[in-house]
Amino acid sequence: MIKQIDTLLSEARLAIQEAKTSNVIESIRLEYLGRQGKLTTLLRGVKELPVRERPQVGGAANSARQEIEQLLSDAVDRIEGGEIAIDTTLPGISPETGHLHLVTKAIEEIAAIFKQIGFTRVRHPDIETEWFPFEALNMPADHPARDEWETFFMDAKPSGDYRFMLTPHGTSGTARSLATLPLPVRSINIQKCYRRQSDASHTPVFHQFDGVYAAEGVTFQHLKGVLEFFVKAYFGTEREVRLRPYHFRFTEPSFEVDISCGVCNGKGCRLCKQGWVELGGAGMLHPNVLKAAKLNPKKISGLAFGWGVERTMLMRSGLSIPDIRILYENDMRFLQQF
Ligand SMILES: [Zn+2]
Repeated sequence: MIKQIDTLLSEARLAIQEAKTSNVIESIRLEYLGRQGKLTTLLRGVKELPVRERPQVGGAANSARQEIEQLLSDAVDRIEGGEIAIDTTLPGISPETGHLHLVTKAIEEIAAIFKQIGFTRVRHPDIETEWFPFEALNMPADHPARDEWETFFMDAKPSGDYRFMLTPHGTSGTARSLATLPLPVRSINIQKCYRRQSDASHTPVFHQFDGVYAAEGVTFQHLKGVLEFFVKAYFGTEREVRLRPYHFRFTEPSFEVDISCGVCNGKGCRLCKQGWVELGGAGMLHPNVLKAAKLNPKKISGLAFGWGVERTMLMRSGLSIPDIRILYENDMRFLQQF
């Protein structure tokens, strides 16, 4: 019987040593120590033995039992330690939450600022005929200004004399707002612009916001006030606005809008032109643009402005992005930083 115990013990040692999962350990425990287990059954037989043999066999069986229990317990520690270390006091792992794209955030913020001074955000189609982007903006068919935009024309059948195109600038939305909205028109159009260009500072698709305010008695004062309101709300109250005479086909007079440099506060540094950085264009609506929208330029006047969303956003953040195309490459390493 002692020999049987020794054999059981050797078997159990080997089985426990080779066990790789806690399920296997549990089945070994049952096999040897369970109610019907091999060692349990053997121990039960001790009382059938002659009295003088009982202490020796009983002692051997008990120490075998103790050893197997110890080995099983050690094996459980070894396996669980390797399977997974669970510390219930550690904070949980929260799921990753996304956020809006930084350009979307800029669009929402810009729209909210103009909303405060009564501009309603409008959405216009991404596909227009040549009417709103060119004709209605005082750029007739033979005018060289049309070439300034690397326009995507569409293969679709033209509508009358006008070809279909992807909107090359947000100002087409200004023409559409003037022609379709009731007076007074006070809208901000934020839209995708498409141009055949792709390099470190250009993407084929980008965004512009174009505002227009047309009514009786709209003057240059309103234009200056709207621009200053936006610049101070978006860039900070310390920033100044400067209007530089310029030329656009759809406004008269026309201006380039500069804001005081945020790096040197207008003193002049290597990032700016003598203290100013260029933001975009603005002006008073050209009489031909009002006429194209069937408005009477003798009665109605209007202001308009239009800037790039990406450019405006990057100017505020001070982000120096070596290649602007990274904004649209969906690289999480970049996007997660915002
Ligand atoms: Zn500067």
